[in-house]
Amino acid sequence: MNDTQPILDVDALHVAIGEREILRGATLALRPGSLAVLMGANGSGKSTLGLALAGHPRYRVVGGAARLGGADLLAMSVEARARAGLFLSFQAPPDIPGVKNNLFIRTALNAVRESRGEAPLDAYDFLGQARAAGKSIGLPDSMLGRPVNDGFSGGERKRNELLQLALLKPKVAVLDEIDSGMDVDGVRAVVELITRLRAEGTAFLIVSHYLQMIESLSPDVVLRLADGRIAEQGGIALAHEIARTGYARAAQVVGV
Ligand code: ADP
Ligand code: MG
Repeated sequence: MNDTQPILDVDALHVAIGEREILRGATLALRPGSLAVLMGANGSGKSTLGLALAGHPRYRVVGGAARLGGADLLAMSVEARARAGLFLSFQAPPDIPGVKNNLFIRTALNAVRESRGEAPLDAYDFLGQARAAGKSIGLPDSMLGRPVNDGFSGGERKRNELLQLALLKPKVAVLDEIDSGMDVDGVRAVVELITRLRAEGTAFLIVSHYLQMIESLSPDVVLRLADGRIAEQGGIALAHEIARTGYARAAQVVGV
């Protein structure tokens, strides 16, 4: 695929929760290795966009299109989307009592590896990789042996999402407020991992309110979601303006 072609192409997406339409024509495109920051007031639909792209059944796509690497993303099952290279880190990662973290992540990784035509990792090789990745993001080894997110603090849950990102190396990663609840070392680890994967070609859609992190990510574009669509886009200056003036005033500026 030509690098100038978008790896993710979202065209006039409409998404409803129940009878209420939350997204009403959201359009964006990401090229391999590019990074877009998605901003927007609470409740504007940022998480809805990520969850709808990942295929959460409650977020019903009622119009528009989304393509991943040229293929119809919306026609795929949730698992097929992940195998095709889409990764979503949850704003509030759930715990899964009874399922061991290392088995959970290894199963996900081997499913993705299989669809890339790579051999599965056995428990030993996986553990080596997971420990090394865990170390680089400050997640202790002991977290691998516990049930998924069971008793994890907010910041530990976010680091566990990062661990999955580091191992899965997706084509497109949607990170929903990955920095929230994280300490300064955690935020630094986020930036380092994103920068490394981006250099390897992963495209990122990053939901964040945290100006300092947004700046250190050097985004290609900053998008503002309002009224169910991308109401405004710009460079880092847009993030600065939003931080300075808030979402209410920004909405007036573009007349939505
Ligand atoms: P953001 O992530 O931008 O803060 P969300 O996408 O989480 O916003 O939410 C968009 C709107 O959809 C909000 O009004 C929210 O209350 C509503 N919403 C989100 N998820 C659900 C749900 N599961 N059931 C009902 N309403 C929901
Ligand atoms: Mg949200």
